[in-house]
Amino acid sequence: MSYLLNDEQREIRDLVRQLARDRIAPRAAEIDESHEFPWDIVELYREHGLFGLFFDEAYGGLGTGVLLALTVIEEVSKVCATSGVILAVQELGSLGLKLTGNDEQKQRFLPRLASGEFLAAYALTEAGSGSDSAAMRSTARRDGDDYVLNGSKRFITNAGVASLYTVFAKTDPEAGHSGISAFVVEADTPGFEVTRLEPKLGITGSTTGELAFEDVRIPAENLLGEEGDGFKLAMRILDRSRPGIGAQGLGIAQGATDYALEYARNRETMGKPIAEHQLIAGKLADMETACEAARGLLYKFGELVDQGVDGSELTKASAQAKLFCTDTAMWVTTEAVQILGGYGYIKEYPVERMMRDAKITQIYEGTNEIQRLVIAREMLKETRAFLLAGVG
Ligand SMILES: Cc1cc2nc3c(=O)[nH]c(=O)nc-3n(C[C@H](O)[C@H](O)[C@H](O)COP(=O)(O)OP(=O)(O)OC[C@H]3O[C@@H](n4cnc5c(N)ncnc54)[C@H](O)[C@@H]3O)c2cc1C
Repeated sequence: MSYLLNDEQREIRDLVRQLARDRIAPRAAEIDESHEFPWDIVELYREHGLFGLFFDEAYGGLGTGVLLALTVIEEVSKVCATSGVILAVQELGSLGLKLTGNDEQKQRFLPRLASGEFLAAYALTEAGSGSDSAAMRSTARRDGDDYVLNGSKRFITNAGVASLYTVFAKTDPEAGHSGISAFVVEADTPGFEVTRLEPKLGITGSTTGELAFEDVRIPAENLLGEEGDGFKLAMRILDRSRPGIGAQGLGIAQGATDYALEYARNRETMGKPIAEHQLIAGKLADMETACEAARGLLYKFGELVDQGVDGSELTKASAQAKLFCTDTAMWVTTEAVQILGGYGYIKEYPVERMMRDAKITQIYEGTNEIQRLVIAREMLKETRAFLLAGVG
């Protein structure tokens, strides 16, 4: 298929694969157990220029495109999902600037994001508004050369470790979707605080926190795009970023499949390796096939972006990649635990961690129920060649 990586992309992907095996895999269990943000992994990414894979050359990045960036998240997530989401969220938190930032904003922030000096975050969700994000209550009131931000955000990845937050708030609370605007907020802005970090089931090394804004003065030059364009921007960002979570899910799924395969080759019952019992062989075949199908959807998305495709086609491809990769992650990791039997359930083996890490991929950046709604909505816009007789 045309989505296969070219030689240069394959070379970079293979270098990252090696780095993941040698330097990240040995840390994965410790990161999971300590629940501590892995700054050493961030340092590793900085040293090897991995954040640069997500940025254009004009801003200090490598300009190697989205397909390669997705494969890099996949490779890292095979061994450590917390380390994978650090890369995915660098993209999520930077996309507002990339898509609508003006030249001055891009020059001010993107090089520091491309080098990894700054980590980024994306703050849309609030306690009362997750899937229904337009129901947010945070406000930003114009006051002279500033906006004054008040309110709070919940479940924000990289809370407390990010230097730069893309924050959405209502500049016109009566105007519904078109009353929302987007801002760049730097972590050291007075009145901005991280008030709580959540303990959680999986990706335990990634921070997930609550942000509070009390009369936070943001210079008007930190407004992204036009006032009132924030909701559209939030959705455009998610269209681009969701497949990063798909890549995380696919990585987890392939990592679990690879581990279960090795285990099944070596564990014997009734006089032969369990991989030779047909019920286990069938599971392995289904797991591998699901990963490959997920990869097809994911890489197709990467190719579309790299070819400059936007709009409805991209929205549908993005939701499909996220949905299928992450449902695959949950299903495949559950099967991997089953293949390892009792050993799958204990912490000495990595598949129980992979199963816990997989769950979040079906929830964040739009739940998989919401992805199904998005796909169906895009389908309803399409005209199909064959209509059922008597319909319409
Ligand atoms: C670890 C973690 C990290 C996160 N990181 C970020 C982040 O960095 N930035 C950020 O802004 N947010 C972040 N989130 C928030 C996340 O995106 C939301 O939790 C998610 O979108 C769901 O919102 P909710 O939790 O309010 O659930 P709800 O919206 O209350 O949904 C509850 C259930 O109802 C279903 N549902 C809701 N509406 C519909 C509908 N119309 N049709 C069918 N089913 C529906 C949902 O699919 C879900 O199953 C994070 C969350 C977690 C747990």
